[in-house]
Amino acid sequence: MTSPPRAEIVVDLDAIRHNVGVLRELTGVTMITVVKADGYGHGMLPVARAAREAGSEWLAVATLDEVGRLRAAGDTGRILTWLTVPDEDYDDAIRADVDLTAYSLGELDEIEAAARYVGSPARLQLKVDTGLSRGGASRREWEAFFARALDGERAGHWRVTGIWSHLACADEPGHPANDAQEASFREALALADEAGLRPELRHLANSAAAVLRPSARFDAVRCGIATYGLDPAPTVDHGTDLRPAMTARANLALVKHLEAGDSVSYGHQWTAPGPTTVGLVPVGYGEGIPVHASNVAEVRVGGKRCPVRGRVCMDQIIVDLGGDEPAVGSDVVLFGPPGEGRPTAQDWAEACGTINYEIVTRIGGRMTRRYVDTTAAVGAV
Ligand SMILES: *Cc1c(COP(=O)(O)O)cnc(C)c1O
Repeated sequence: MTSPPRAEIVVDLDAIRHNVGVLRELTGVTMITVVKADGYGHGMLPVARAAREAGSEWLAVATLDEVGRLRAAGDTGRILTWLTVPDEDYDDAIRADVDLTAYSLGELDEIEAAARYVGSPARLQLKVDTGLSRGGASRREWEAFFARALDGERAGHWRVTGIWSHLACADEPGHPANDAQEASFREALALADEAGLRPELRHLANSAAAVLRPSARFDAVRCGIATYGLDPAPTVDHGTDLRPAMTARANLALVKHLEAGDSVSYGHQWTAPGPTTVGLVPVGYGEGIPVHASNVAEVRVGGKRCPVRGRVCMDQIIVDLGGDEPAVGSDVVLFGPPGEGRPTAQDWAEACGTINYEIVTRIGGRMTRRYVDTTAAVGAV
């Protein structure tokens, strides 16, 4: 006997393929699909397969652990990774045939030792900091870093396959940091070229820059959020045809009547101004629902928008049904693709004072995941 899911995340893999296709056509360069953090909460492995099916030449993840999971699942294509810590297991990374990212001389020493031990060369991309002040070699280190990278390549410890950087303000196309970072990146490329490095890929753009800044596309773009159909620059009207892949839904657990003056949930942060009905939805911050959604986010029950009332609890939220009495078990959509009265992840982000990335990446916990394929489901072309 299987009981219906209490609460689930439904991921439309056809939407993923559609988005990768749209982004490839728009940019016309090599696609690096970013599937870190369990595919931004959508499930790394199914998303990775869908992205490959849609022609993504590369995948990218943050950690070597994520690379291991992709390889164990049978992915044999190019994978870029960028977040290593001291004493990382570079031996396994070299055996996994991943393209590592380095940004310090210390990392190059560790990778050289691993390449000697394993007996085969690493594949290495060099990251330069052009103004994000996060990972990446700082400007004053570039000459020494490139010289050391070339030495290691000549000695057979690695092949330098890429040079790249990351933008701070790509979602604000008018921000002066974009021009400054792109100019700085071009300077790094010129210095690397003078040093004698001939990488196959130069890349700078995340989703927002891939969509909004053609000059930043270089040889490849690293698209994360847009792959999942969420807007990388919600304040800019760019009209890219992206389809959100994730729907978060639950089954209504309980309906009850409230009288005027009845207060709801911990701290009594909401009090009914008049008689109404409320519904219990079996998801809470244990499922990654932000407590900041208290009293501000909305869900859809039976075609109608229903506001969250009172504080989000660990396992449950209470929504205002406005006098309706939908059947227990009714479909509750927290967010999904726009249309048919559904709130979107972007709506949730705005209500909670955060970004759409955080809404989809955090949600999960005890929710189950189910994969669908809208094209197959409707037998479309
Ligand atoms: C996460 C990440 C990306 C993807 O960014 P999106 O805005 O989701 O497209 C690209 N590059 C790096 C270095 C990242 O950390």
